[in-house]
Amino acid sequence: MKENNSPWLAQLSRTRPEISLREHITSDVLIVGGGIAGISTLYYTLTKTNRSVVLLEARRIAHGATGHNAGYVVSEFEKPYKEIVAEYGKELADAGVASIEGAWALLDELAAVAGTDLPRETLVSWGGYRHFEQFLNKLEDTYASLGPKGFLDKVLVSDESLWLEALPEHLAALCSTVPTSVISRALETRETIYHGAIPSKTVVTNSAMLTERVLEHCLRTYPKRVRVYEHSPVHGIELNATSGMAYCGEYTIVFNEIVLATNGFEDFYIKNNAGEPIDSAFHHQVHGVVGYMTGYLTNHPPHSAAMYFYRSSSTFKDPYSAEPYFYMTRRDFKTDSHQKLISIGGPEVHLEYREKYYRDYDVAREIYDSIDIFLQAKEGVGHWQQQFRWHGLMGYTESGLRLVGREPENPLLLYNLGCNGIGILTSIYGGRTIARHLSGETVPPSIFDPKRRQQDL
Ligand SMILES: Cc1cc2nc3c(=O)[nH]c(=O)nc-3n(C[C@H](O)[C@H](O)[C@H](O)COP(=O)(O)OP(=O)(O)OC[C@H]3O[C@@H](n4cnc5c(N)ncnc54)[C@H](O)[C@@H]3O)c2cc1C
Repeated sequence: MKENNSPWLAQLSRTRPEISLREHITSDVLIVGGGIAGISTLYYTLTKTNRSVVLLEARRIAHGATGHNAGYVVSEFEKPYKEIVAEYGKELADAGVASIEGAWALLDELAAVAGTDLPRETLVSWGGYRHFEQFLNKLEDTYASLGPKGFLDKVLVSDESLWLEALPEHLAALCSTVPTSVISRALETRETIYHGAIPSKTVVTNSAMLTERVLEHCLRTYPKRVRVYEHSPVHGIELNATSGMAYCGEYTIVFNEIVLATNGFEDFYIKNNAGEPIDSAFHHQVHGVVGYMTGYLTNHPPHSAAMYFYRSSSTFKDPYSAEPYFYMTRRDFKTDSHQKLISIGGPEVHLEYREKYYRDYDVAREIYDSIDIFLQAKEGVGHWQQQFRWHGLMGYTESGLRLVGREPENPLLLYNLGCNGIGILTSIYGGRTIARHLSGETVPPSIFDPKRRQQDL
């Protein structure tokens, strides 16, 4: 099965011509990668500095992970808060959490730029838990990082379980005990396997459309300071002490600073003429995981919803384990016909080290079938026709956190990439932070700072 038709790209209308690089050029700043990370970086660099920017995209703007995700925006981390505290200390961990919470306001800002017809709904998302350990870990983690305000509503615990008695007092105080059927109703499932449900904030949106619209705004507002080239892959980067060169086909781009917003997967070398080698460290910092999703169009029920379902026993979603949890949203798709799109993700496949990902490669039918099996268990037997099937690449850093900041071996190189399973808000935060660096501001240390692996030092 070769399809990769994402509903977000189907919804994208664009009139902009596709322009490829056809000359040698210079720019203050070069951004490589035109997903939400690259375009957020572009937007904030244009609005917060007076520097000129060139952006090179290997294929088309917003057609990477940004056009192939779940559009289920949450302020969570891939790595449990207590592990972040253990590694970086409480002060930096809290500052990191606050930064990503603060990115909700940045999302609002970009959405305002994108226009009122950008699909965007704020919802209470319900997370269903079948195993107590997972439920407890999630409650503890949210409470430790955000306190009681991390819960949008009462946490639901089944009165047919012994879960409430097993919770520490401060967490039990957040809960209401209810019949299992109430939990099933919150999760809109026929299954009665979930004994706990946790409410949190989510925004459902089309991040590809957001990205395209923000770019259109930048091109309109700063025509003299920005140039964007598509189908223009960078294959090499050379860094000196005060400037550098990037190579794209036969053309050279001379820059003062360069930002990699490539999701972590790239086909280029980096030569550092002003410090220790960077290339090998950069490449093996990111591990690839392909996520798969399906979409179904429906006319009912009429309300939007967002949910995730922890059916398996792994404590947190572990990027290095193939055991899926399922996540689902139902949202307006075509406003004129009141049509809703149900989109569901969960299955993942892990790539080998440096294995290449192809957007149009053959996908085993069982991968998409597994989503139908989940949906039938949830909804009952019915005819569910997959109108959309798509997949995208998530790049995970070893740290379990996005890399945002300057490369320690050569500060002309900056990153806004990695940790892309939950990456919409962190990409936007990254864009704003990179602009602070580029404006000359001294940005305080953070959990997102790139650092070398111990064995590379
Ligand atoms: C299946 C799936 C579901 C997801 N669901 C969610 C979700 O619900 N919520 C959430 O927050 N996040 C989710 N994510 C993650 C989110 O989509 C990403 O974190 C986000 O889109 C990352 O944006 P990006 O700009 O870093 O990467 P991308 O959108 O992949 O952009 C990187 C761009 O760089 C370009 N590029 C790479 N190499 C070069 C080169 N050498 N030269 C020029 N250009 C290059 C690529 O072509 C690409 O367009 C999901 C991801 C996937 C795959």
